[in-house]
Amino acid sequence: MELSKRTAEVHVPDGATDADPQQAADLHVAPASRRRQEVAEALARTTHLAVGAHQDDLEIMALEGILACFGKPDAWFTGVIVTSGAGSPRDGLYEAYTDEQMQAVRRTEQQKAAFVGEYGAVVFLDHSSAEVKDPANRCPVTDLAQVLLAARPSVVYTHNLADKHPTHVAVALRLIEAARSLPPEARPKRLLGCEVWRDLDWMCDTDKVVFRLDAHENIAASLVGVFDSQIAGGKRYDLATMGRRRAHATYLESHATDAAQLVNFGMDLTPLLSDAGPSPSELVAAHIERFAEDVRATLVKLA
Ligand SMILES: [Zn+2]
Repeated sequence: MELSKRTAEVHVPDGATDADPQQAADLHVAPASRRRQEVAEALARTTHLAVGAHQDDLEIMALEGILACFGKPDAWFTGVIVTSGAGSPRDGLYEAYTDEQMQAVRRTEQQKAAFVGEYGAVVFLDHSSAEVKDPANRCPVTDLAQVLLAARPSVVYTHNLADKHPTHVAVALRLIEAARSLPPEARPKRLLGCEVWRDLDWMCDTDKVVFRLDAHENIAASLVGVFDSQIAGGKRYDLATMGRRRAHATYLESHATDAAQLVNFGMDLTPLLSDAGPSPSELVAAHIERFAEDVRATLVKLA
């Protein structure tokens, strides 16, 4: 895998390798090639992959995938962070940090989350937001295509296409392009758009993918809690994320008791992986039209 940025990195929290110990100890194998092998093996075990714009997005939006793999020997979660985090807001302890220092802090925080969540690997692609948002820049697309090929995940989580953060939407679009650049048999089986900078509560219930997230609430709280540089400035993403899940679980069904205590919603983006499928804007527009029709129909009925 040849990623486009010199500073790109694949972090493997358990440093796992299935290599024959004899072979690993063989002095004739250069450290760089051993490392490449270790990375290839860590990515190849992936079952669930999540692609987010920033450090902390995956822990907010893709908990279903993290929990599906937590403590399971045959399921592995790999996270991909597309931007470097250099331009992040900063306050308090981090107020005087340069962009470079901030980037290092955010990478360390993401590595802490990967350790706590027992991820198989985290890939830092290290693009700037401007680069990701530039449709003419093919580097994020080719990087993501390489990761998809190395990991061959069955399920992929990313930002939903109605998110209000332009970098989030751009990441989802680049990922869709990357998946569609692969032969159909190498594409993921399922692609899900998730919640960060806009809930999906507005979608019709029949359209929602419901992620039930009751397991390991302690781990979920830790995962959003390690991103101190983002929380220290007064943005309580940790509390907001856990609160959103609790609110979704309660408000999902008005006439039934709660089937889950913690819920996130997803938008099924799988049709976008098909050559004959809709365009991203057509898929989102169809969801918005069904929502509008649902609200209109209730008002007409009760007027
Ligand atoms: Zn983000």
